[in-house]
Amino acid sequence: MIEVRHLTKRYGSTLAVDDLNFTIEKGQIYGFLGPNGAGKSTTMNIITGYIASTDGTVTIDGHDILENPEAAKKNIGYLPELPPLYFDMTVEEYLLFAAELKKIPKKERASQLADICALTKVEEVRHRLIKNLSKGYRQRVGLAQALLGYPEILILDEPTVGLDPKQILEIRNLIKTLGKSHTVILSSHILSEVSAVCDYVLIISHGKLVASDTPDNLSKLMQGTSSLLLTVKSSQEDLENLLNTIPAVQEFHFTDCEEKDCVKAEIKTEPSADIRELLFYRLAEAGLPILGMQLVHLSLEDIFLELTADDTQSFTESASSIDQKGENLDDLHM
Ligand code: ADP
Ligand code: MG
Repeated sequence: MIEVRHLTKRYGSTLAVDDLNFTIEKGQIYGFLGPNGAGKSTTMNIITGYIASTDGTVTIDGHDILENPEAAKKNIGYLPELPPLYFDMTVEEYLLFAAELKKIPKKERASQLADICALTKVEEVRHRLIKNLSKGYRQRVGLAQALLGYPEILILDEPTVGLDPKQILEIRNLIKTLGKSHTVILSSHILSEVSAVCDYVLIISHGKLVASDTPDNLSKLMQGTSSLLLTVKSSQEDLENLLNTIPAVQEFHFTDCEEKDCVKAEIKTEPSADIRELLFYRLAEAGLPILGMQLVHLSLEDIFLELTADDTQSFTESASSIDQKGENLDDLHM
């Protein structure tokens, strides 16, 4: 349905989107997940024909967005990060205006409006000025605008940002309902939102696709990943030599150690391997006392942080996020 190939966007020296490739199939809800500045809005603005790419192609139902914009855009409804609402219009005036811009035939406008206002539950505010609406209602009006003309594809940029928890749930439920009859792409920097709503997740970092899979598969991938925090009274070199002789150790990384004459390592092993006993005997044999050992299971949050962090920081960030888990479970404000 949508094919994105080698998509690249530069703003001066900033590489906002870096050789992005993905395909969107019909009838699913897709989530673009990534921290602020990852390139989500830029990608959406290019797919919807708002801005041009520096390189690469986007085709929608076979129509190139640059060569054949009208045909390509016909099937897309877009709710940008900042919806283009006119605050001095009533909801109805605004939606009629949007219908005109979308070239919806005059005789169809009234019935479409009634239908879409019912779907997005904005009927009771139809005659209110947009400036007097709550943020939740404004977002619904933005969605109604995107739905005009009954496009098959809905592209929603951070649709729940700035809403209170009740409004967030309402908008999420509305998106799920819309997902039954539309192909939806939504962006979010909140992991729990994407896993709650989407059938498929594309994780974007620094303009690049770093992972893409179903939420279930991503969780499975993550459950299999665990790491071991080990504090040993040893030199870095001695511990390094010993760890290098254990086949199940995939990689390790030394982190700051508060204790004198000690080293602290974060060790990643094969998913099924538990090397704690082995380490106990081997380190004892080598005369290197273990002062601390902790098994850490990486959650989806940690993986998200790890995948989207800078390469050099990924390990320490994922480790430090463990402390904050309680508070940050639902919302990764990055
Ligand atoms: P996201 O939506 O994931 O937060 P954006 O697509 O808005 O990310 O931004 C990606 C990168 O491109 C950021 O580094 C941002 O500062 C930069 N950027 C976005 N829009 C512009 C612009 N109009 N001019 C210059 N730089 C921009
Ligand atoms: Mg954005």
